[in-house]
Amino acid sequence: MFKRIIKYFSKHFSLFEKLAYITDRRIKPQILTIKILSAIVFIHIANLGSLHSFSQSKAGPSVSTIARVADSVSIDGIRDVGAHVYKMSRAKKMIEPYMGQYIAIIDGHELTVSDYCKCSHCKRRKLKTKDGSIKYQYYHSFTALILAGDKYSFVLDIEPIAPGESEVTSSYRLLKRVCQNYPKAFKLLIGDALYLNAKIFKLLESHHKKAIAVLKEKRRQLFEEANKLSLLSKPEVYQDKKTIYKVWDHIISGCWDGYGKDVRVIVSEETTTKRAHARDGKSWEQKSVFSNWMWVTNFMDSSLGDLKNTVRICHSRWQIENKCFNETVNTWKADHIYRHSENAIIAFLLLLFICVNIFNIFLARNIKDAKVKTKIYLINIIKAEFLTLKRPPPLVPIPI
Ligand SMILES: [Zn+2]
Repeated sequence: MFKRIIKYFSKHFSLFEKLAYITDRRIKPQILTIKILSAIVFIHIANLGSLHSFSQSKAGPSVSTIARVADSVSIDGIRDVGAHVYKMSRAKKMIEPYMGQYIAIIDGHELTVSDYCKCSHCKRRKLKTKDGSIKYQYYHSFTALILAGDKYSFVLDIEPIAPGESEVTSSYRLLKRVCQNYPKAFKLLIGDALYLNAKIFKLLESHHKKAIAVLKEKRRQLFEEANKLSLLSKPEVYQDKKTIYKVWDHIISGCWDGYGKDVRVIVSEETTTKRAHARDGKSWEQKSVFSNWMWVTNFMDSSLGDLKNTVRICHSRWQIENKCFNETVNTWKADHIYRHSENAIIAFLLLLFICVNIFNIFLARNIKDAKVKTKIYLINIIKAEFLTLKRPPPLVPIPI
């Protein structure tokens, strides 16, 4: 299966051919950059999780060479390859709209925290220990932008959050670049309460895109106005699976000074009935879980569909937590720091997301074998084949 997926990378995405254009800043390189990049792709797709596991397979460059090259490899070059993979996937209809729309989701994520491993680009936080002394934690974080999907999401790009800067500053840079590199990839962006930001709404508008952001109490004027209007009007009530929704749809003017235009506020009160163990430990009982959601959008017309569809789209923001961050951390070891430098961390992550994007497409469209029921099973058989290969795979899979 390892050889089969590598073939798929080449046949459908010309991946290695494109990676061969990427350079690094070594003065007298003895090993081609493509060999290092191929090695990193193999490490990711065989889910080895460390440079040492790869060096054990005797497949190619040493741990120190891979690490050194990752320090200076061109990040823009890897981003170009990511954009090429996106174009090929979109052209071959491997990326489908979600709920009738091409939707982007944005959020920030923190990588593994350490008490002692640090570099000049680490973010730092101060903590008080139990005995009252002060200790510091060092970490890296980044913002990511993905395309929502029914079966799988597709990571378009990521941007580091530098020490001393906020998530919104990093995501603004990310959005600017994505709007330029992927002008037609999406029409709507969804973010949490941080993204209820006039600068971000206006940037998207200048690229003919709209936004949805979570509304929280901090935005007092908008929040209070929406609550007031909800008391005065009747909600639309409907049931979807085990949840009963009460949804209000308000148009509000003059309550968001920084933005200065009318916005739409969707309010959803949700009651889900769940079966839980009763206190006696023998029987079951029905429990109701309540949650209240509010979103602000500048989508003023009905292009999001009816309210039921609109609320589903608003909730799709969770995909970035579930399908992107949680899955890549738990399944693909995305939190592992292969090499602790600013450039290497982003290079490894960008290459990982390229691999995961193609892997998800491969699983959905190419695996017909009934034995492969889960993602983990497929990952395991890819890894098993890589580890038992008689001859290490060539690191330059195409003639250059
Ligand atoms: Zn660091």
